[in-house]
This record gives sequence, C-alpha cells and structure tokens, in this order.
Amino acid sequence: MMMNAPPATTGPLADFVGWAIAMLGGQVVATDGRWTLLASDDDVEFPFDQPIDPAELSHRPELLQWLARRLTHRSPLPCSVPRGDVQRVSELATHVYQPYEVADGNVRLAGCTLGNRFFFRETVLRVDGGECSLSHCWRDGQGAPVSDELRSRLGLDRLAPPPRPIPEHAIPPVPVDARSSGDRSQAGADTTHLLTTAVAVKWAEGKLEFVHGSQSVFLEFSGWAREISDSSVSLPPYTCPHTGRQGYRLVRTATGELTVQEAVGECALSGQTHLITNLATCVVSGLRVARDQLERCPISHELLLPHERTACRQCGERVSPLVIADQRCRACRQLEPVPLSDPRIVQITEAVPQARRLRRWTIAETDRVLIAVGKGWWHQWLLVLDRQTLALKRCAHRGRWKRSWTVDAGLPD
Ligand SMILES: [Zn+2]
Repeated sequence: MMMNAPPATTGPLADFVGWAIAMLGGQVVATDGRWTLLASDDDVEFPFDQPIDPAELSHRPELLQWLARRLTHRSPLPCSVPRGDVQRVSELATHVYQPYEVADGNVRLAGCTLGNRFFFRETVLRVDGGECSLSHCWRDGQGAPVSDELRSRLGLDRLAPPPRPIPEHAIPPVPVDARSSGDRSQAGADTTHLLTTAVAVKWAEGKLEFVHGSQSVFLEFSGWAREISDSSVSLPPYTCPHTGRQGYRLVRTATGELTVQEAVGECALSGQTHLITNLATCVVSGLRVARDQLERCPISHELLLPHERTACRQCGERVSPLVIADQRCRACRQLEPVPLSDPRIVQITEAVPQARRLRRWTIAETDRVLIAVGKGWWHQWLLVLDRQTLALKRCAHRGRWKRSWTVDAGLPD
C-alpha cells in the first residue's frame, strides 16, 4: 500500500516521522507492517534503505535527527499547516449563511479574507538508555503558551505540508519565548532541540450583508476558518442598532427598519410592525401601541391614548383619569397659597391686568398650564393660562361660598 503520511502506526514518533517525510515530499510505503521510506527529492540520498519496523522507531534517534536536518536544510523554519484546514473562502460560504435568515430577503457574503495566524512548535528529542522520545512545546505568535484545548480545536496535533508554499517573508519571527522554552524538565546531556516548526492556521474575517429590497445591513464576523466550516463555533447574532436586541432572523418593520425579529413588536391599534422602542403601553387601556399614537398626561407624565383622557371639571384640561378624583385633577385639588410677589402671579397679572384686583392667590401648575385662583371681596376667579404663551385658556368665577364654578362669565371688573 502506498500512502502519504501519517503511517498506519500512530504515536508521537510515528506521527513525527510521517509528517517529516510528507514535508520532504516523500512517502511511506508500508508492507507487511514494515515501512520503507521513500524520499522524492532527487538530491536527497535517503540513508535508510532497509525497511523500518514502526515499533522500533524509539530505537532510531538517528532517523529523527536526519529528518530534522533535512527539513532545516531546506528552510531554517519549516512551515506546516493543520491537516484539512480550510484553504478557500468558498469552503466557508454556506456555513456563514446558515445561521441567518432574512424574511422576504436574502443573505450574501459582502467580503471575506482568509489570513494565516502562526503558531510555533518546538520539538525536543530525548535519548535515554538507547530509547528516544519526543516532546513538543507550543507557543502562539506572541510567545504565549497554547492550551491543549486550543491545540485540539485547531488540529495542531495533525500537521501536513501547506497546499501552497508559504514564503519565508510571510512567516513572522519566532517569539523569544518559543525559542527558549523547550521542555526543560528533560534537560540533560541526552536532550537536544530537534527543530522549530511554524504552523499557519487560517483565520477568517468577513462581512455579511442582509438584503431586503433596496435596503441592506451588514454584520462583521471573524474566527478560525476550521471552526466556522465545521460549525463548532457560533457566528455572532446581528445586533439591532436601535434597540440593542440580537438575533439571527431579520425582518423589515412597517416603518422601514431592517432589524432582528426580537426588536420588533406590533401596534395594537394599526397592526403594523414597529421597533419595540417605538412602542409603548397606554397606562389606561393597557394597549401596546406606536408611541406617536400616545400623549403624555401633563400631570402624571404617563402615556395614554388621547381618547382615554378625561376633562377636569375645574380647569377643563384633558388629563389621565388616574389623576382625577371627585371630577377634579390632581393639580386643581392641590392648589397652594402663594404671595402676590410669586413670579407666577406677577406673570399672570401682567397677562390678565384685571386680575390685579384679586388678593390671596393659590396656584398649581402642570406641564401645560398654570392654574390660579384669586380671591376678591365677594368672588373668586379661576384662571387657567398656557404656560408658554400665557394665553388665557379658561376663566371662571364663583361666589365666595359657592362650590361650583361658572365658566366664561367674564373677568373681574
Ligand atoms: Zn384641573
């Protein structure tokens, strides 16, 4: 049987030999459980012309050293890749679309690049009493140790020659830590640094475009290409810029925003879809409707549908029924005595000069109006003025001992 590395027998030594032979462009021929190593380079004279029993590799340190010398003779820093790593963007496309859906629209890849991120493997050979063993120490491009978990996720334990040569200038320098941090627990006269290998792993960076008619929004993503292609990592949800809600299904609201389903609600009045931030609940009816359908009560500041407002019998202002008691709004029930010098009384008497005759004022205000009651000798006058313009909105009077007001009966003489 003719095969590329790795050979049928596995284990750190067999894996290393198989990988090194493949890196040199050679092959392993396995016959009856024994290997014959064939180097393909014309200029390589393979010194091991006898078949090797894979079980005997631990007694062949000179084979491991020869392979390492051949590799570093070609390049001081051999460069490898995880076996089966993604090499083309087209291998990713279907995987990056898969989590997303656009109602009545589509998803497309608006750009994606695959770049190399480098790891470094330092291999140490230990020979002890004729038995040899290998150990690898891994560092990332910044010299930080690589966890077993990451090594496993990225397939760093199963290396292969790169499908296309990676030029030396594209490989960053070996971080100092990686060069100096072999497995020193095995340091000793029979421990030798065999070689350092650069490993290029594909990192994807791209942008998805979610399209609905002439409208589109974008989502950037990045990650290890291998993990995206085998769906072992979740691509990010789209985040609605208006609401902060996240999701994978995009819809278009009636008001034209293309966003995630989670950011959309329905107006109970119109049945149209809106961003949830554009919806609010009427404090009286409990209906969730578009905000522009609601008004704010000038006293409680709560939102309510206009037709739910109730007119105060005293000031005539239309307010939330929740601030009405005994047919009067909270402002009218809580008029407070103020001196003539109160700036609001000064304003009122400037706007309504006839009111200067009145003494002993009480006043309250809402977001919209000033409500003032001034007392004369025999009568009381109620004045309701627009806070902004001081326009007189209501004038009423009553006899000193009367409870009910007579509206629009004229100002004090
Ligand atoms: Zn009132």
